[in-house]
Amino acid sequence: MNEIRKNSIFTIDITDLSEQGDGIGHTDSGFALFVKDTLPGDRAEVKVIAVKKNYGFGRLEKLLISSPSRCEARCSVARSCGGCRLQHMRYEDQLAFKEKRVRELLTRIGGAQDFEFLPILGMEEPWHYRNKAQYPIGVSRDGRLIAGFYAARTHSIVENDDCLIQMPASVQVLKTVKGWMEKYHITAYDEKTGRGLVRHVLTRIGYHTGEIMVCLVINGKKIPHAQALTEALTRIDGMKGIVLNTNTRRTNVILGNRETLLWGKSRITDFIGSIRYEISAASFYQVNPVQTEKLYRTAMEFADFRGTETLWDLYCGIGTISLFAAQHVRQVYGVEIVPQAVEDARCNAKLNGIENAAFFEGRAEEVLPEKVEKEHIQADVIIVDPPRKGCAQSLLACMVQMAPEKIIYVSCNPATLARDVKYLRENGYRLEKVRCCDMFAQTVGIETVCRIVRE
Ligand code: SAH
Repeated sequence: MNEIRKNSIFTIDITDLSEQGDGIGHTDSGFALFVKDTLPGDRAEVKVIAVKKNYGFGRLEKLLISSPSRCEARCSVARSCGGCRLQHMRYEDQLAFKEKRVRELLTRIGGAQDFEFLPILGMEEPWHYRNKAQYPIGVSRDGRLIAGFYAARTHSIVENDDCLIQMPASVQVLKTVKGWMEKYHITAYDEKTGRGLVRHVLTRIGYHTGEIMVCLVINGKKIPHAQALTEALTRIDGMKGIVLNTNTRRTNVILGNRETLLWGKSRITDFIGSIRYEISAASFYQVNPVQTEKLYRTAMEFADFRGTETLWDLYCGIGTISLFAAQHVRQVYGVEIVPQAVEDARCNAKLNGIENAAFFEGRAEEVLPEKVEKEHIQADVIIVDPPRKGCAQSLLACMVQMAPEKIIYVSCNPATLARDVKYLRENGYRLEKVRCCDMFAQTVGIETVCRIVRE
């Protein structure tokens, strides 16, 4: 394969799409190339930009035949920004691609067959859906203040003041903060030197309430001209709270540990269905409110509660699923690692007058075995909704030992979902039903709900 050199040019047909959203094609000699911005059905002239042992990366030089899935990307920085990797693909085809990927992983890695695959839940209007934004702030090569998103796999900021998947109010907040920084010559943080004040602007918006919270992540304890910032931000309709988060570490973790309230309150309120939730800056909250409701309804349908169950909701965040389910079961127990989120969960239970939900702080893989051993608690149904890395195997082992009738697995990463399904299948469970829900339109992300039953 050594004829494949960097900078050589090939004409290839793109036949598949990778997990990252890169088109995949082969040279005549069978060498695989991953090419960003291409789609299955494209024929393209491609320049090789990196060569690995068994595959390489190419850059799209010229499109010779255009895929039927192709459409015009709406955003001007769609190619350079690391966020929307699929904007150039028609939305129906994005959905089909995601569904195919989940099915393949569940079969190939999960080893599952004969499961029912319900049609993916797509969005009617797949734009302006995100209720949460995290804009890095920096300086351009020519010294201008910029904000936007990181380019794919890098930490260089692609300037974008008008992201099309964010809710409009978030864009307004960003412009206001930038205006304040420019007016008062407030410095942006520079990752290379560790100097400069403002690192990130975070926004969170309550979809049903219109409430807005802003969090400014700063490399220091306070900001100059705070009054002016507050005045400008509170002119935005729905502004409920402005928080300063201190992060002085040289790290790419966004949030630091210290939080101070600059104005208003430190939480916003939103609804999912009829349940009211209060959400603080450090807590996880699903980013697509329209789809979240569909996701939770699917989880409830799959759980098919009778009203007498003991339910465990592992990785429960602020108790969203727990409280959604509480009215359909006898008792819910939630487990969550972030203390702030557990506090939110307890407060949310009270706020909604829900008395049959209790929350424990800690790692699910530690809390659950401990409760089983010391308190002999049991479970009729377990819902898990882990972060991208999936469940710890020790947790799955504990779940199997508890032998619930059903496990409802909600996943944002089909690869780890498939791995965990394999484990559960090998330990007495069967994958019965699957449904994907598109929480991340224009990007490669996909959310999946599985109903897994004891044999
Ligand atoms: N079910 C919730 C949250 C899902 S996100 C919702 O739909 O809103 C995953 C959650 O798992 C996050 O809140 C994260 O803080 C939490 N988490 C991550 N690792 C964990 C662990 N080992 N044990 C318990 N919770 C964990």
